[in-house]
Amino acid sequence: MERIVFGPVPSRRFGQSLGINNISFPKKCSYSCIYCQIGKTEFYYKERKEFYKPEEIKRQVKEAIENLKDKKIDYISFVPDGEPTLDVNLGEEIEVLKDFGIKIAVITNASLIWREDVRNDLKKADCVSLKIDTVNKTTWKKINRPISNIKFENILKGIEIFAKEFKGELLTETLLVKKINDKKEEIEKIGIFLKKIKPVIAYIGYPTRPPAEKWVEIPEKEKIDLAYIILKSMNLNVKIIEEKKGGKFGFTGDLIKDILSIISVHPMSENEIKKFLNENGGSFDVLKNLINRGDIVEVIYKKEKYYRRK
Ligand code: SF4
Repeated sequence: MERIVFGPVPSRRFGQSLGINNISFPKKCSYSCIYCQIGKTEFYYKERKEFYKPEEIKRQVKEAIENLKDKKIDYISFVPDGEPTLDVNLGEEIEVLKDFGIKIAVITNASLIWREDVRNDLKKADCVSLKIDTVNKTTWKKINRPISNIKFENILKGIEIFAKEFKGELLTETLLVKKINDKKEEIEKIGIFLKKIKPVIAYIGYPTRPPAEKWVEIPEKEKIDLAYIILKSMNLNVKIIEEKKGGKFGFTGDLIKDILSIISVHPMSENEIKKFLNENGGSFDVLKNLINRGDIVEVIYKKEKYYRRK
């Protein structure tokens, strides 16, 4: 059985986050974002389907919590190798995981939020983070590269409906890419939309790990600061997501499975892997074997080595 639960990983938004990869490997998504840290989407999906049984996910979460003993978990987060709302069992999975008494978050690209069943599933979570990189259709096609036959207008409408109905904590995430969505006018329009949906926090991010497209660049600092100022001036609670360095990755007892399940959704830098191996009694040979077996690949980004699942 594929490892569905990973971590906890240090999350920029959710502290120590026990991750649920509810979409089976390889990545399946309705988008192929130019900055995606898992790489290009080869399997485009927009129809919902079953990937795992909710009871199996619950069993793996229980096992992970038991293995972690008294280590702190801030959130159980659905942050898969792809888009979590493609999973038709998402609502039921959230329900069964509530038994653990830990807050549940879902990080979604919002591409299916025009569907009532998707909104109803998301409403069960304590916290939902929606991707809003742009409110301009042309930019959307450039940055998120959606599957054909989904309508941008429907997504924006669906987000507005969800924001009115959702009783939990609504977050948004806008990832800025140089010369794609970092212009003043673009940010102002995003701000107008965000004001309508009133997120508790409107996060601004930028690519910090190897992107799907090599040409993707981080905007200049002035552009990121300007985006912050524009959204702040619109009375939004805006925060820039900083890369959380030095956090601890959770060890559940099996080094190889842990590394593979973490890097399926969260590429690790060489230093992060070395630290993880050191802390848990493993040697660097574990990493070398995974590379030789062809399970993981090395990617150089900003002069640093990263590893992601092949
Ligand atoms: S960043 Fe998220 S939404 Fe975009 S392609 Fe990757 S998994 Fe899909």
